Amino acid sequence: MHICLFDIDGTILLTGGAGMQAFRRTFAEEFGVDPISGDVSFSGRSDRAIAADLFAAHGIDPSLENWERFYGGYIARVDEELPRHEGTVLPGVEALLGELALRDDVLIGLLTGNVRETARRKLVHHDLWYRFTFGGYGDQHVDRNLIAADALAAAVEQAAAVGVQREALGTVLVLGDTLNDIRCARSIGAKVVAVSTGQSSAEVLRQGKPDLLLETLEPTEQILQLLS
Ligand SMILES: [Mg+2]
Repeated sequence: MHICLFDIDGTILLTGGAGMQAFRRTFAEEFGVDPISGDVSFSGRSDRAIAADLFAAHGIDPSLENWERFYGGYIARVDEELPRHEGTVLPGVEALLGELALRDDVLIGLLTGNVRETARRKLVHHDLWYRFTFGGYGDQHVDRNLIAADALAAAVEQAAAVGVQREALGTVLVLGDTLNDIRCARSIGAKVVAVSTGQSSAEVLRQGKPDLLLETLEPTEQILQLLS
């Protein structure tokens, strides 16, 4: 049994700025911070990590209460912003997911910095949520390596549910668009497909030495060859 773990933003889809706008509005409308600091990186990071950095940058107490206030406000605004922006599913994604779904030796999950509820909303918006039965999400962790560990643990649990023990698992493959995706994949011993449809150029991604570097996820065969 092989495991494929997909990043969302820049790998499966682009929200057309809806996610960023929801982040901005939440800080403006819930915390009175406008504009948010441009020094905080969003690329390949967990929502929890981005929020924590923005709390620090703007002198907001990083309490559980403030995280929950952010979380609730952010989810509501993602709902509002998704239909207002022109999001797109990236080339090759639907065909690849279709191919993977045909196989009975592959589990398809998510490995994303999104909190679970925004991951679900973004994918439901493009009718892709049903493809994923488990995942690791950005609710709890600042460190993407820990999200990867969560995703792998969820995959192991799913495999066990269909009678496949951990020792019998095959390739773990992570598909992502940033160096952080490559790093977290290595932390769980996974192979990596890096795709330059997000914010990182092929030149940048090459530095992370992915197993396969692609301009889009259209070369399905090349990707499937890694599952052996
Ligand atoms: Mg991404």
